[in-house]
Amino acid sequence: MKKLIAGNWKMNGSLAEAASLTEAIVHGIDQDHSLLDRCDFVVCPPFIHIETVFGTVRELSHVLSVGAQDCSKFEKGAYTGDISAGMLTDIGCTHVILGHSERRQYQDESDVLIAEKAQAAHGCDLTTIICVGETEQEREQGNAFDVVGAQLAQAVPEGSNAHNTVIAYEPVWAIGTGKTATAEDVKAMHQYIRDKLKEKLADFAHVRILYGGSVKPNNAQELLSVPNVDGALIGGASLKADDYLAIADSAPTV
Ligand code: PEP
Repeated sequence: MKKLIAGNWKMNGSLAEAASLTEAIVHGIDQDHSLLDRCDFVVCPPFIHIETVFGTVRELSHVLSVGAQDCSKFEKGAYTGDISAGMLTDIGCTHVILGHSERRQYQDESDVLIAEKAQAAHGCDLTTIICVGETEQEREQGNAFDVVGAQLAQAVPEGSNAHNTVIAYEPVWAIGTGKTATAEDVKAMHQYIRDKLKEKLADFAHVRILYGGSVKPNNAQELLSVPNVDGALIGGASLKADDYLAIADSAPTV
């Protein structure tokens, strides 16, 4: 399976910076086609930058997909401030990140809400990148597997499959902190996630499971070589084209 190299730009950058970052990424991939043999690429800019990103990608849309960082559970109507899944499809997005730990923490998002959003997204042909992961305290208390198992049970809705669903394992304590899980811990958790998916999805073996949490060029090779790590969800390092491309270049040959 090719690795999915997903960039989460979060709430960063100006319009001009979004354009120049996109330009550098697209140019970098286009310069080295061996990257496309090993990886698929998606970036998730802030909503308001998406159109500019598309404008910059132009005829090279086959090298870089574009996604969003959230969507509404509602289809349309009086939901001030919301962006629907249909609006994302309409503008050309193919992916949407759901249930990122920052949204769970700052917007109080529950697994039930994440499942509702995922269902709305699947109904509009979007591939959801559903994030799961334990806090530092939960890991220290020995509950990491139970927490992730419960998140998967509730946040991954009926109708999910390998085409419309990607799981991102992101230990909360590793996001933006410079700490990463050890390769052994990642291996164990990704195997556990695969086993849990088996209970739910017929094509569980083909669902991509990404690792996220301080993935950088200097640790990407080790992380991307772990069994059942089918790509990376990258925050900070995805804001630097060189780092994002270097992480992709660490992916093993398929
Ligand atoms: C993320 O926000 O999904 C993430 C993994 O961030 P970082 O790479 O900065 O830890």
